[in-house]
Amino acid sequence: MANGILLLVEALFYFGAMALMFRLRRQIGIGVFMCALGVMHFLETYLASVFYVAVPVGLLSPGSTVLFSGKLVMLLLLYIKEDAATVRQPIYGLLLGNALTVGLVLLLRMQHVSQLPGENTPDIAFIDQMGWLMVWGTTLLFVDSIFIILLYEKLGKMIGRALLPRVMISVGCVLTFDQVGFFTALHFYAGAPVAVFFGGWAAKMCAALFYSVLMVGYLKWFEAGPLSSMRGLTDIFDTLTYREKYEALVEHAGRDSLTGLLHRGRFETLGEQAVAGSMRGGRTLSLLVIDVDHFKSINDRLGHSEGDRVLKSIASAIAEALGTDDRAFRIGGEEFAVLCPLPHPVARLLGENIRQRIGAFDAGDGIALSVSVGVASMNGGISSLAQLFAVADRRLYAAKSDGRNRVVGDRGQDAAEAIFPQAAGDRPA
Ligand code: GH3
Ligand code: MG
Ligand code: MG
Repeated sequence: MANGILLLVEALFYFGAMALMFRLRRQIGIGVFMCALGVMHFLETYLASVFYVAVPVGLLSPGSTVLFSGKLVMLLLLYIKEDAATVRQPIYGLLLGNALTVGLVLLLRMQHVSQLPGENTPDIAFIDQMGWLMVWGTTLLFVDSIFIILLYEKLGKMIGRALLPRVMISVGCVLTFDQVGFFTALHFYAGAPVAVFFGGWAAKMCAALFYSVLMVGYLKWFEAGPLSSMRGLTDIFDTLTYREKYEALVEHAGRDSLTGLLHRGRFETLGEQAVAGSMRGGRTLSLLVIDVDHFKSINDRLGHSEGDRVLKSIASAIAEALGTDDRAFRIGGEEFAVLCPLPHPVARLLGENIRQRIGAFDAGDGIALSVSVGVASMNGGISSLAQLFAVADRRLYAAKSDGRNRVVGDRGQDAAEAIFPQAAGDRPA
């Protein structure tokens, strides 16, 4: 019985100290709370591998019952009062810190250890065992932390504002999941008996109850202000897994810094994919290659930086002309490409639309702007992006040598005229 009371005191001590650091986060910084949370991890793993006490429900370790359960509750608290972007920091910090620990242990093992006076000799096998237990425990914790936040949000949608049952069910479910995962490893790695599973589980359920009451009480009496706002589950998941950063990175890395259009590298990849997709599904696909006419003289007359500004406006004009499935790329200094899932006559009209938009600009100093466009579409004779590009490029140069400021497509294919006589009439001969 004394063991049981001591466990309660330990949990209360742990929760009180952590909650105090959390409460003072605006004054002393949230880093204090996070660092304390991380430091406890070593003791927690050490206790969970060797330190067990008997209580009426069975054998349990304060490492799992007090420290691990407490840590999960602390992460949930951090999420509830702050947000997903904050709680992911300790979640990843714990994961990476443990990976680092194990990496260092692998190096330490290779060292020749000197004997110190006295009895103490390092127990490398134990360090190894703890290392792997720590990796497994942290991997589980990583899954647990994401799981508990998503479950908490999901329950919010189901049972609404009843905070205590919501927290208790979230903590209880995740600790059960964790107990199964952790015990399996402990059983096969350290030969833990089955009594440890049930003892540990019952103790974790008591911890879930105890900590949930403490946390809800803490929130009610010591924290003012709103709880973290409800967002969509996938949105939260994306933040917890840094996916939104990754997507922004991919997005940014694929863009040309001057015009904001996709750059040449993306043209190659997306173009190859589009061509392959078109060949597989028999879908229409067209490519427009656009080159600014006499751009060199614009640079010469207005200066290079003014030339850059003109390029930006041309890029915006192209982007504005596009439909939702079309994509624009800057593939050279003043050369652009558009990939669109349109049949040839419609793609030519898109080219025409772009040509007219740009023709309406005044580059400054009364200098007229114009572009020449070559249009090519997938047909039986084309089986790669390079072939499609070669056809469009040949037509672009035909447009240049015909006098510039025009769109050239397949000259044998006059369907555009039949369908859209007005637009076709506007097309330069
Ligand atoms: P045309 O295409 O009609 O035959 O004549 P052009 O004068 O446009 O000829 P070309 O396409 O060969 O020349 C491209 C010029 O574009 C050369 C270079 O000075 C200019 N240029 C290329 N990249 C940039 C850029 O990023 N900014 C600016 N301001 N100018 C650029
Ligand atoms: Mg050029
Ligand atoms: Mg040019």
